[in-house]
Amino acid sequence: MLNVGALKEGYVLDHIKAGKAMTIYRDLKLDKLDCTVAIIKNARSNKMGTKDIIKVECPIEKLDLDILGFIDHNITVNIIKDEQIVEKKVLKLPKQITNVIRCKNPRCITSIEQGLDQIFILSDEEKEIYRCKYCEEKYRGKRNK
Ligand SMILES: [Zn+2]
Repeated sequence: MLNVGALKEGYVLDHIKAGKAMTIYRDLKLDKLDCTVAIIKNARSNKMGTKDIIKVECPIEKLDLDILGFIDHNITVNIIKDEQIVEKKVLKLPKQITNVIRCKNPRCITSIEQGLDQIFILSDEEKEIYRCKYCEEKYRGKRNK
């Protein structure tokens, strides 16, 4: 069982691939949030060998789980209230992601109009394919990088 320690309200993100905690920290913009974050690197895991864990103390509606689902939907999200795990959330690939990845098509309107939101739509859930909302260019980058 995970020791959630003094976490009153927030999240424990478990089963993060070892070495990926800092990427997720940045992608979730935890550096911009005014909350307490603990990163545990290379924790032992029966399932994975080693894993990273992030603990975030913040009001639970503050975290964008869609982005997390996009980065790696194998991460386990434990929601903590009053120092207890009240819910384990199963992450899914989000239907739409905004301003996380950029369209690489030089003729895309988002390449020309800088102020436009970068919106990608999940076009094939099985193959995990995202396409630009504006030009339908396929996103070829790796998600879990
Ligand atoms: Zn595009």
